[in-house]
Amino acid sequence: MKRDRVKHSWAEPYKIKMVELLKMTTQEERENAIKEAGYNTFLLRSKDVYIDLLTDSGTSAMSDKQWSGMMLGDEAYAGSENFYHFEEAVKEYYGYKYVIPTHQGRGAENIISRMLIKPGDIIPGNMYFTTTRLHQELAGGKFADVIIDEAHDPENEFPFKGNVNIQKLENLIKNTGAGRIPYLAIATAVNMAGGQPISMENLKELRYVADKYNIRIIHDMTRVAENAFFIQQKESGYSDKSVSEIVKEICSLTDGATMSAKKDALVNIGGFIALNDYDLYEEARNLVVVYEGLHTYGGLAGRDMEAIALGIAESVNDDHIRARIGQVEFLGDLLIHAGIPVVKPIGGHGVFLNAKKFLPHLEQTVFPAQTLAAEIYIDSGVRSMERGIVSAGRNKETGEHNFPNLELVRLTIPRRVYTQAHMEVIAESIESVYAGRESIKGLKMVYEPKYLRFFQARFEKL
Ligand SMILES: *Cc1c(COP(=O)(O)O)cnc(C)c1O
Repeated sequence: MKRDRVKHSWAEPYKIKMVELLKMTTQEERENAIKEAGYNTFLLRSKDVYIDLLTDSGTSAMSDKQWSGMMLGDEAYAGSENFYHFEEAVKEYYGYKYVIPTHQGRGAENIISRMLIKPGDIIPGNMYFTTTRLHQELAGGKFADVIIDEAHDPENEFPFKGNVNIQKLENLIKNTGAGRIPYLAIATAVNMAGGQPISMENLKELRYVADKYNIRIIHDMTRVAENAFFIQQKESGYSDKSVSEIVKEICSLTDGATMSAKKDALVNIGGFIALNDYDLYEEARNLVVVYEGLHTYGGLAGRDMEAIALGIAESVNDDHIRARIGQVEFLGDLLIHAGIPVVKPIGGHGVFLNAKKFLPHLEQTVFPAQTLAAEIYIDSGVRSMERGIVSAGRNKETGEHNFPNLELVRLTIPRRVYTQAHMEVIAESIESVYAGRESIKGLKMVYEPKYLRFFQARFEKL
């Protein structure tokens, strides 16, 4: 019943006022382009891409209201009017007391990590995120994964694969000592698990454990509205609550947050730190001057803060989020019906192909997901990205590759950008690559940067 409701109602709750023309390319042009890009979709030029599913970060279409807000930019160095609108929106829709803008999510992560982590600290989290973990490590800390085991199994259809295994967490706290754990890093709609939500019940249990050991919860709230929608649809007791109410309840269970406004909040750039503790806020407000800019702009133009303020309000609207997630589910269902191995259930911001099952003849050391992303691009000009062994990087101590269980290709859907017809073209292309999968060979890495290697690594065909 619920699925039906999602399906019937995902049709776009907006109409198109301006269009951006796309370039069609030939297969030969695409073969040359991906070779030149070192078989890394991050290194393609966007002019060579037909449908761009690299990321949902900063790629949303803004509304006419947001664009008109851009014209109201108060570009004052200090105390811009737009900052106060932005601050009001964060307080009203998320409920945190204090907010500091940053240029994007990782700017917020840098400051939170520097402020709270001491060398030797352990930071438990519900699966790692690339930039989050790197900032924890640069501050001398070490990430510990306490997500439930189901999250590492792409076939498992548990509805809340973003949940923390509370027993695992408590054991870790007891073994490490609460004094070595500066905070719990809890993400909503866990990106690396496939956009999988955490339940309110689990968040409440986490709050209980955090209070018991006097540890903070820092919320990676990049996709909090998408998580709230899943709670509304799947968790008992929430079907009558609005996404906006659920978002606020989620935030109320945490002590502070880092946000990449480039995702949920429907803007092309921006982020923030939100905190409830005044002393921490004061410290963060001071540090932001060093790394981002004065605490009333944090690396953003006034117009950007105005667009965020308006985008936050639009992002928690039920019609918006139902259509957004409905479109992702539509693509997921097309692929499932075609027998393509995908991560289930379909997550909030994209469909994740299971490259281990798609290309079972390839060892993980020849980068199956990286290979598959390149093949999809060659087939149709659809750009996706690797979320597997390349993204997982190397073990800091041994220097060996990390071998993640999940070897995925992410088809991330930008918000309010593509139509149902685009989803059909994407599904057809993936079906055609799947039909020819047996002749696909892997890649070898020929250039490896030290940090976040997936962005800039280069490969050659084997
Ligand atoms: C994108 C993202 C970040 C980092 O934000 P940027 O704006 O890209 O710096 C952090 N956490 C999660 C879950 C994200 O998806």
